[in-house]
Amino acid sequence: MSILHRAHFTTSAARLDQLPPPGAPEIGFVGRSNAGKSSAINVLTQQRRLAFSSKTPGRTRLINMFGIPDPLDPERDLGFLVDLPGYGYAKVPKELQAHWQAFIESYFRTRQALNGLVVVMDIRHPLREYDREMLAFAVARELPAHALLTKADKLGRGRQGEILRAVRRELEADFGDRVTVQTFSSESRQGVDEARAVVAGWLGM
Ligand code: GDP
Repeated sequence: MSILHRAHFTTSAARLDQLPPPGAPEIGFVGRSNAGKSSAINVLTQQRRLAFSSKTPGRTRLINMFGIPDPLDPERDLGFLVDLPGYGYAKVPKELQAHWQAFIESYFRTRQALNGLVVVMDIRHPLREYDREMLAFAVARELPAHALLTKADKLGRGRQGEILRAVRRELEADFGDRVTVQTFSSESRQGVDEARAVVAGWLGM
């Protein structure tokens, strides 16, 4: 069983100064609203409602941190999954979008504990402008990033493979070998073990 299933909710923060002091390594999760980010976090941690969908009113404007406790000392977290607010939400007023963009940017720039980034993208709409911005932040900080092409169950295997290869080529051209990518589905559990291994590896577990 994966160590990620121990994840538990630890903190919500609306501002950076509300985050706990940086300690154990953090893995950020980002994605456009509705991409399937909260479903991915829930499947990776084998929990039904750890992360909340961006469709849940009021829950999306916060950074939510989920700790992974040390099996030998459950009081201590060995690492954190950090659910960053979904971005690119058309219904949010411009100023609020700008506020959240700035928030996420400063988290990326200043959070020393950040160890890696997972970018969740709908396989049918990969590498939109926001996705590229997030990947660029990670690469600028020399952090590894891993892209999940989720909702793969919506496409046949042949089409999945074509998109995977095309996205991989683009990522290599733009970001070199720092960014990896895989197909994923929270619905069929395709790619779940592979994604868990990447995240657990970044956390040193
Ligand atoms: P978020 O806004 O990025 O957190 O997206 P959610 O995880 O809430 O997912 C948005 C919608 O896509 C929901 O209706 C999910 O049930 C659906 N969804 C998420 N992941 C998958 C998947 O792998 N396959 C399919 N078919 N639907 C998915």
